[in-house]
Amino acid sequence: MLVVGLTGGIGSGKTTVADRFAARGVPILDADVIAHELVEPGQPTLAAIVAAFGADLLTPEGRLDRPRLRGLVFADPARRTQLEAIVHPAVRRRLEAGIAALRAPYCLVVIPLLFEAGLEDLVDRVLVVDVPPAVQITRVTQRDGVARSSVESIMAAQLSRAERLARADDVVNNGVDLATLESRIEALDRFYRRFAESGSGGNG
Ligand code: ATP
Repeated sequence: MLVVGLTGGIGSGKTTVADRFAARGVPILDADVIAHELVEPGQPTLAAIVAAFGADLLTPEGRLDRPRLRGLVFADPARRTQLEAIVHPAVRRRLEAGIAALRAPYCLVVIPLLFEAGLEDLVDRVLVVDVPPAVQITRVTQRDGVARSSVESIMAAQLSRAERLARADDVVNNGVDLATLESRIEALDRFYRRFAESGSGGNG
């Protein structure tokens, strides 16, 4: 099966694009959803995080206090690396198992931090959702009601637009209206089905 990795910066439109592929019958796996599932109460990954960072990262209900964890690792690269060493291998294992269980011409794996987390080897092709930075800022501030500066600081911590585009096999320009986006996705879906049929997929 051909495995297409979908990535892009904050607010570029990854969910919007993935939803449209899903509507065409393409199975979707989402690394963010998996990462959330991994830290549910009772999961070994949550236990490993608590062992490394302390039980005060849990809310009184025993759930991961995400804002607190974010605050702890955001300004401290060493702690961030420590957290990633726990979470990234677990996400990788779940993605590998999820991909292996699928039967389809091709699937889409949404991995916002595809390059940053070193997960490129899981996918056969990289599809980047691209928008100009000003559009990212406008869409995220409108969607989440957050300050422009907080979007900018997340963008600064992510790969640059140029680096991401340099590593793409395919690009969706999402600085367009939704009807134009839909026709681009239709063309990509046709391309991936043909590509998968031609036997170019790397995972059997
Ligand atoms: P995040 O990185 O925060 O998870 P994302 O990359 O999944 O975000 P979306 O949530 O899909 O991005 O899109 C960001 C916002 O922009 C949403 O409110 C979405 O409805 C809107 N949006 C996406 N694409 C378009 C478009 N082509 N035209 C207008 N609005 C759009």
